[in-house]
Amino acid sequence: MTLAQTVEALRHTSVSGITKPLSWRLAQLASLRRMLTERSAEFEDALLADLAKNPTESQIAEIGFVVGEIDHVVRHLRRWLRPRRVAVPGALLPARASIVREPLGVVLVIAPWNYPVQLLLAPVVGAIAAGNAVVLKPSELAPATSAVMARLVPEYLDPRAVAVVEGGVEETTELLEQRFDHIFYTGNGRVGRIVAAAAARNLTPVTLELGGKSPVYIDDTVDIDAAAQRIAWGKFLNAGQTCVAPDYILATAAVADRLAPALERAVRALYGEDPSTSPDYGRIVNEPHFERLAGMLDAGTVVTGASTDPASRYVAPTVLADVPRDAPLMREEIFGPILPIVTVSGLDDAISVITSGDKPLALYVFSESTRVRKRILTETSSGAVGFGVPAAHLAVGGLPFGGVGDSGSGAYHGENSLRTFSHEKAVLTKSLKPDTLKLIYPPYTEAKDRFARGLLRRLG
Ligand code: NAD
Repeated sequence: MTLAQTVEALRHTSVSGITKPLSWRLAQLASLRRMLTERSAEFEDALLADLAKNPTESQIAEIGFVVGEIDHVVRHLRRWLRPRRVAVPGALLPARASIVREPLGVVLVIAPWNYPVQLLLAPVVGAIAAGNAVVLKPSELAPATSAVMARLVPEYLDPRAVAVVEGGVEETTELLEQRFDHIFYTGNGRVGRIVAAAAARNLTPVTLELGGKSPVYIDDTVDIDAAAQRIAWGKFLNAGQTCVAPDYILATAAVADRLAPALERAVRALYGEDPSTSPDYGRIVNEPHFERLAGMLDAGTVVTGASTDPASRYVAPTVLADVPRDAPLMREEIFGPILPIVTVSGLDDAISVITSGDKPLALYVFSESTRVRKRILTETSSGAVGFGVPAAHLAVGGLPFGGVGDSGSGAYHGENSLRTFSHEKAVLTKSLKPDTLKLIYPPYTEAKDRFARGLLRRLG
């Protein structure tokens, strides 16, 4: 089958209405859940092969994450699909108004390589829950996981409504030539622009889950050791290849002096004396990314790490102090295990560093001061804010997950996925009797004019 025929077949399914009943959606989600639990070992092996991801980490951040998302959605789906009544202005009464969520049709989910299970399947949970047919496009840069998806998804999910298309730029380009009712893309902003431009040709709405530099601000009101532990965990998870990983730290010189050794201790606590021998520490996805990261290691004073092994694409968990604000690694998303500490003079300075760059996907604050937290919340813009913890906000099903500005547009997880993958249809029902609208039909009279002027006030 050509790609065009694949998409055409899904469109046929969507039009036929097979995907609409709640029972179909729940059965598919149950089956997806079964795929993840029954075939867990195959996913774990693939993630180990693609990213040297430890199986426990794969459970936490990939397989178990999607299972949790399914459970959350299944628990609430019936309620989320109920028509929602809204108030009708007095002048239009008697009438009833409601919002009905309907499937968009055929949607495309394009995923990146860094969390190749989570970032492909979590959007798919929403797409199916909303009653859509869906094309899954795994990343070619996580080939083992892509192959498992191509093998298992047709076994567990209704092949009339769900298709996996493997491949790289060529296949994705061809896919983007097809007409979809929504495109959900996770990855870098350069390709995000390509996706948005292709979608625009068909007026297809897009969700763009992009990246960027997520800063950390830390002050002297917190327990520095405890904060360092959290920061190191969020940063070095998946060898720093996490879209919401802390990208760099902003701290005053006095805080930085205490934080640097605390980070060094935290790295040792997580991965031992020699992280290259730790089964819990990942590897860089490919050679170009390895080379890119290896070139960043001299940007500051080495606190810990800075060693590499090209053969295994190992980059040590690295902390660099005294990194100048205009260092090359401060201009692009690091997306690897290198954590620069940039010295600021205080909160004002930190806020100006944050607001002078692109709007981050996430912003993390380690401070016990209510004033500091409030100022960060109101004076900066980011996809999310984490007080006291990096990355974990995306595990809260009730929170929208997404970026703003350069870090993306649109959001998902839980009910936000339902919103993303549904059309919210406005429905107004007004009985023909009594015909209160008579009062505004032509021919217009002075009495009607008086009524209309009053009406406008009542509608407002
Ligand atoms: P990637 O290279 O796997 O690309 C993502 C997808 O785009 C793949 O499926 C790929 O096949 C496709 N693609 C690549 N080039 C294309 C082209 N020219 N035309 C059409 N499609 C193309 O992944 P990546 O972009 O390296 O991912 C890392 C980036 O993603 C980082 O910037 C990271 O911050 C961001 N990210 C964001 C989130 C989020 O949830 N916001 C999550 C993970 C990663």
